[in-house]
Amino acid sequence: MRNPIQNYLESLADHGHYAVGKVASYIPELAAADPDRFALCIATVDGHLYTVGDGQFPYSIQSISKPFTYALALQDQGPAAVAQKIDVEPSGDAFNEISLDPGTKRPSNPMINAGAITAASLVAGKDRQERFERVQQWFSDFAGRQLTFDQQMYESELSAAHRNRAIAHMLREFEVLESDPEDFLDQYIRQCAMTVTTQDLARMAATLANGGVQPSTGERVAEPSVVEHVLSVMTSCGMYDTAGDWITSVGVPAKSGVSGGIIGVLPGQLGLAVFSPRLDAHGHSARGVAVFEHISEEMELHLMQVT
Ligand code: GLN
Repeated sequence: MRNPIQNYLESLADHGHYAVGKVASYIPELAAADPDRFALCIATVDGHLYTVGDGQFPYSIQSISKPFTYALALQDQGPAAVAQKIDVEPSGDAFNEISLDPGTKRPSNPMINAGAITAASLVAGKDRQERFERVQQWFSDFAGRQLTFDQQMYESELSAAHRNRAIAHMLREFEVLESDPEDFLDQYIRQCAMTVTTQDLARMAATLANGGVQPSTGERVAEPSVVEHVLSVMTSCGMYDTAGDWITSVGVPAKSGVSGGIIGVLPGQLGLAVFSPRLDAHGHSARGVAVFEHISEEMELHLMQVT
């Protein structure tokens, strides 16, 4: 007999032509993405993987890298040292806002670019290369397989990174970054150009759901206190200026990326990832948001449900 969850997920993949939104174009390489790709994967904490659509199609992780790099910064430096540099308050702004919190002169949170570039600077390592190698290994440990880096995507984003360069230099001016901002900008753009599949993202989310232990390899990747902290910030800030709407309608900690992925984490149970490159006005996958709303209701995933 066919598994009912698999049947249900397949019915979601089969929604005919879904053409809401537009692929990201401010990174030249992303503008070339096939807008009709679709994948939906669920990885459970006991190591089971449900996958429909293009689950093994590779793309750049983009902002879904942010919670994982933040986790590495927390594990390397401890929460107090990280908190001196990055706050945990929702900013209500877009992901690429060129601003610091007016009171604290820190980035509001690590899910927007200003906070994510700062988190990259807090990864331990003697130079940007060593820090990036550690990030690459850390993401791979979450995924349970060796992940690679897309040089072409990196060069493409770097060639057009005027806004992120402005953010990095602003962070240096306010001494949030303590040395050459170009180093941290480069490292951040590299982390965004790590290649993943939707299956990888579901497994990375499942490692968070499983308290930091990768469900397939059994390896403890992150400490439980780090995971709790990261999931909290994903809940309040992961969807930027629609975080409130998301937690009300979907009800799970989440993170989106401009290449079209969204991950969601149901603590103790599963990680979920959707991929569809057309984006809404906030930079989230339009179909991804719709699918998450649907699944949350049908599978009763909302963390605040009381019935
Ligand atoms: N690399 C992208 C940027 O910094 C990531 C943005 C995103 O996915 N929201 O602009």
